[in-house]
Amino acid sequence: MAIDKRSNMIRVRGARENNLKDINLDIPRDKLVVFTGVSGSGKSSLAFGTLYAEAQRRYLESVSPYARRLFNQMSVPDVDTIDGLPPAVALQQQRGGTSTRSSVGSVTTLSNLMRMLFSRAGDYPEHQGMIYAEGFSPNTPQGACPECHGLGSVFEITESTMVPNDQLTIRERAIASWPLAWQGQNQRDILVSMGYNVDIPWKDLPKKDREWILFTEETPTVPVYPGFSPKETAAAIKNKRTPDYMGTFIGAKPYILKTFSSSQSELMKKRVSQYMRSAICPLCEGKRLRKESLSIKFDGKDIATISSLSLAELAIIFEKHAKSGKDKVSTEKQIVTGRISSDILSRIKVMLELGLGYLSMERTTPTLSPGELQRLRLATQVHSNLFGVIYVLDEPSAGLHPADTRALLGILDKLKAAGNTIFVVEHELEVIKHADWIIDVGPMAGDQGGYILYSGLPEGLKKVKESQTSAFLFNQEVRKITNPRIPTGWLSITGGSRHNLKNLNIDFPLGVMTCVTGISGSGKSSLVSQLLVELVANGLHQKLEAQPEDITDGPQINDTASIKGSITAGLEQLSRLIVVDQRPIGRTPRSNLATYTGLFDHVRKRFAEVPLAKKRKYDAGRFSFNVAKGRCPHCLGEGFVMVELLFLPSVYTPCPTCKGTRYNADTLEVIYKGKNIAQVLEMTVEEACIFFDEDPLIYRALDIVREVGLGYLKLGQAATELSGGEAQRIKLATELQKGQKGSAIYILDEPTTGLHPADVERLLIQLHKLADAGNTVVLVEHDMQVIAQSDWLIDVGPGAGDAGGKIIYTGTLDGLAKCKNSKTAPFIANYLN
Ligand code: ADP
Ligand code: ADP
Ligand code: ZN
Ligand code: ZN
Repeated sequence: MAIDKRSNMIRVRGARENNLKDINLDIPRDKLVVFTGVSGSGKSSLAFGTLYAEAQRRYLESVSPYARRLFNQMSVPDVDTIDGLPPAVALQQQRGGTSTRSSVGSVTTLSNLMRMLFSRAGDYPEHQGMIYAEGFSPNTPQGACPECHGLGSVFEITESTMVPNDQLTIRERAIASWPLAWQGQNQRDILVSMGYNVDIPWKDLPKKDREWILFTEETPTVPVYPGFSPKETAAAIKNKRTPDYMGTFIGAKPYILKTFSSSQSELMKKRVSQYMRSAICPLCEGKRLRKESLSIKFDGKDIATISSLSLAELAIIFEKHAKSGKDKVSTEKQIVTGRISSDILSRIKVMLELGLGYLSMERTTPTLSPGELQRLRLATQVHSNLFGVIYVLDEPSAGLHPADTRALLGILDKLKAAGNTIFVVEHELEVIKHADWIIDVGPMAGDQGGYILYSGLPEGLKKVKESQTSAFLFNQEVRKITNPRIPTGWLSITGGSRHNLKNLNIDFPLGVMTCVTGISGSGKSSLVSQLLVELVANGLHQKLEAQPEDITDGPQINDTASIKGSITAGLEQLSRLIVVDQRPIGRTPRSNLATYTGLFDHVRKRFAEVPLAKKRKYDAGRFSFNVAKGRCPHCLGEGFVMVELLFLPSVYTPCPTCKGTRYNADTLEVIYKGKNIAQVLEMTVEEACIFFDEDPLIYRALDIVREVGLGYLKLGQAATELSGGEAQRIKLATELQKGQKGSAIYILDEPTTGLHPADVERLLIQLHKLADAGNTVVLVEHDMQVIAQSDWLIDVGPGAGDAGGKIIYTGTLDGLAKCKNSKTAPFIANYLN
């Protein structure tokens, strides 16, 4: 296709994806283009859903006709034509969390370089032959430690994990890991038949018996007489009496292993995993590699040690070696060292610029925030030497302190200078101001959005009256809190340690809204989302909701063990801890906005009250797509089916039987106020507010969701399609609905992620309501609006990683603006003038 040199524009005609209103638009190439607008206005539908999707489709078309056919069913954007569209690379934030385990090293390709370096330029001990690069990877048979298979940890199943209380007898369930109910009794009855004493305390059994019962690989089959006493059983066996059945014994440990590796039931797996402890592998000491691989050193360190250093530390090491091999007399090894080292160094430098110097190569991606991961990918792209492509980014400033945002803009400028086009969906004013071109979508969310309000140079947006972005961009006065609330007490933490926080003493004010600030990696999350949460949860004997990952990954090294500290005052004023985080609200499309908030229960009851439903005896359960009687039998209520592709990730297509409605035809015949249940799930919260306006119970729940700025979401919007910020606001709405009275502590980590300044205002209203009712609110935030509206501030720093972790300031806003050591202070001062 000929590219029109004169205009150098990407020309979009007739775009109608999601809520886009048949829009026509010309977008300049080789520029930094920022897409703005309130949440749900259609920015992503344009940038990702239309432009990126079309570029991707064309790319796929060029690779494989087979893949195209399948892919087409999914994601052909609804648009008439797009001309002048270069290939695109999306650096989107992961929706719904990452499932694969990778690390900083693998995402950035630093691990590959490091392996090559160790293989070719490492210091080998005498008699150790050359080891190829794969031999330094714990994920290959050549490299993996033979004991732990490269995991670094081994599962321990010991007497003490399986028998937590050795005072109990077997009859009293001393072996806690045995299956419950009949199966457990069966094992006991088998032991009775075999003559073991099940009525003395476990600790009094001979060691030989205890070991056999727990660890034997033998699986003897014996006659079983349930209900018989040991004496009667012995007699029955002696007399060769016909048993009720023959039972097979399985050792307690083999039972756990078998269940863990082959049970179909997540619940069973989870249950047995309680009896497994993860411990550091004794052979490799957690380093995951074979001894031989670990014997090779670079700069005096093995590759596992190098991987555990922070990128900032690595930069210093490789700075030294990058100069190697530049002399005339250099050996080949020195030349190789120099080359690879300077490549590694230049990659690391970009990550340092993006404020990621506190990460180590071994950090796994699930422990990173979506923003950190996106910036890592961005840093990697800077080195890909691609040009002539569009990079499409989704809120790259998420989680960034304003000081780090500057560096991010520098990197985007670099990519642009290399001949690329940058599309950014963004709310952060600093980024918007840096744009060469602004595309403002709006005016509102959902159906009331989807129009292009403005497309042009930044100054021009000023004149666009209906743009909410314009109002915030050009009147950037931040409203300061006028009467900061007075704390009703203090929650004191003493000796707090976690990651880079060392033996910290800190007081959190109660009954007010506190904002914790500091640059990325300074320790805010470690302080608030981990230390504070863990200590308060323990203090209140409140169990924290398990992370969704815990269920599938099985036992892990108990991470919270490294949290130290105690609460020395103030706990008595708190009755409940509520953590409103950005973790997904569910991992499957079976969970959605309506089910999570609980409002779907009421909706289903309404359907069950319809005369036709009553006549057919349909109860409320019938209207759940998770229950067999009501759901589509083909897709089992999922609404779509998976298509496996050979060389590509599997794709989902709408279920042909129910056409994606998830329900069977009979269920859909029940109509409430003119709609069937699937149609209700298709409504946005906004629409549902009107539909259910005479139903106070449902209306109230919906209204709160609308108030936190999510009126544009559909009731049936799957949990997996929600961004972290949306999931967080749904959790907040669910909590607000419960109406806490005064003694709860709410903890929120970056709640403004993904929010337009107009939406941040609405969120603040809700948070103020909580504090007004006497609750304690603690936030981690960079957003200046939120900082300026907080009663109390705690600044962590001064730097990231080991250079951070200290409390730089605690007090009210005015004091922070004047604080000399704080990296946050200059930005506040800027805004407050
Ligand atoms: P923004 O990026 O401005 O927050 P989006 O482009 O994500 O907005 O959403 C615009 C509208 O399209 C919203 O009403 C949203 O609910 C809807 N929408 C987004 N994704 C989908 C989808 N996969 N299916 C149906 N509607 C969607
Ligand atoms: P912030 O919230 O201010 O961005 P964090 O509390 O996330 O900072 O990080 C503080 C320090 O703790 C950093 O050096 C970071 O690398 C380290 N850290 C955070 N999470 C983990 C983890 N899961 N494992 C190891 N180190 C971590
Ligand atoms: Zn090992
Ligand atoms: Zn179906």
